[in-house]
Amino acid sequence: MVDLAAVRANVRRLRALAAPARLMAVVKADAYGHGAVPVARAVLEAGADALGVAHVGEALALRAAGIGAPVLAWLHTVDTDFPAALAADVELGVSGWELAPITEAARALGATARIHLKIDTGLGRNGAPAALWPALVRAAAQAEAEGLVRVVGVFTHLAVADEPARPETREQLERFRAAVATARAAGLRPGLRHAANSPGLLSAAGLERPEDMLLDMVRVGVSLYGLSPFADRTPEQLGLVPAMTLRSTVSAVKDVPAGQGVSYGLSYVTDRPTTLALVPLGYADGVPRSGTGGPVRIQGRTYPEVGRVAMDQIVVDLGAPGRSAPEHGLLGAEAVLFGAGENPSASAWAEAAGTINYEIVTRVSPRVPRVHL
Ligand code: PLP
Repeated sequence: MVDLAAVRANVRRLRALAAPARLMAVVKADAYGHGAVPVARAVLEAGADALGVAHVGEALALRAAGIGAPVLAWLHTVDTDFPAALAADVELGVSGWELAPITEAARALGATARIHLKIDTGLGRNGAPAALWPALVRAAAQAEAEGLVRVVGVFTHLAVADEPARPETREQLERFRAAVATARAAGLRPGLRHAANSPGLLSAAGLERPEDMLLDMVRVGVSLYGLSPFADRTPEQLGLVPAMTLRSTVSAVKDVPAGQGVSYGLSYVTDRPTTLALVPLGYADGVPRSGTGGPVRIQGRTYPEVGRVAMDQIVVDLGAPGRSAPEHGLLGAEAVLFGAGENPSASAWAEAAGTINYEIVTRVSPRVPRVHL
């Protein structure tokens, strides 16, 4: 279940924090598992200025659904269909080699590509290395003079913004400021400078100069979905509402004696008579196999998942015997792995599985129907 009202409320909160900077809603990876098209519509309704995705294919899927808002795609391969991107008015991130095929596509189509130049200020992933930045901005300025591209933005991505006490973020922002100056000196006039992700935006208020973080636009993903990017702060503390609920219903209940092994490997053995509830969600649905012990809320109480997560099912130990009797009403009762409010959080499953909440929601598989509220 995906609560689009929660997504809209999160956008409004994040926009207020970002203002006067614009807000790009990052809806890559099927909107972190929440459903790219319905989420894109919801964030635009709530005032997002633009959409961000990794791949051109993701941007084209938004266009195919009739979404006309600005969309930026920033991660390309040599096989990326740049002509299709230009034909669909998709803005393109450029870290280096992409400039040549993009200008070629623009020339062939008689179009002007809208591009955002990306510099690597310290993350060590895509983005032009600092040493190659002057050459990239010169080449982009030349292509702009020929009418083949319009450099509408310059951006970078932060490495440790989720740990606000670390000094590297400030260093990255300083390098970014210098990179923008180099671009301007080459004659470029990028109207959109952007660096902040969710943790950058959510920690900007604590900075001496928040405007250096917020710049002209922020690119936020995980916080749109009501999840905290910080290990030590809950969504509630950040004024965010989790949008995704992963739920099913109890599909079998059984009373077992002490000494009953549970699931493959029999790694869990009951130490007293108890009741086990089966929930038909497994790793094929995106429940991490390493998430043994993750929380499940049933009938208003939270119980641990026990034994190994299987492909299609998990087992929950209800802690007391005799509950398979029909009067307990367990068969068919709702079982929530994570959600908002009293429910366990995606972060609790992330902790059980040794991962991050981003991965928990993003990996909910296509087998799980997305019901948008
Ligand atoms: N910008 C870029 C380039 C990204 O790759 C991502 C996501 O990883 C984001 C922004 C959004 O980050 P977050 O989900 O932490 O807000």
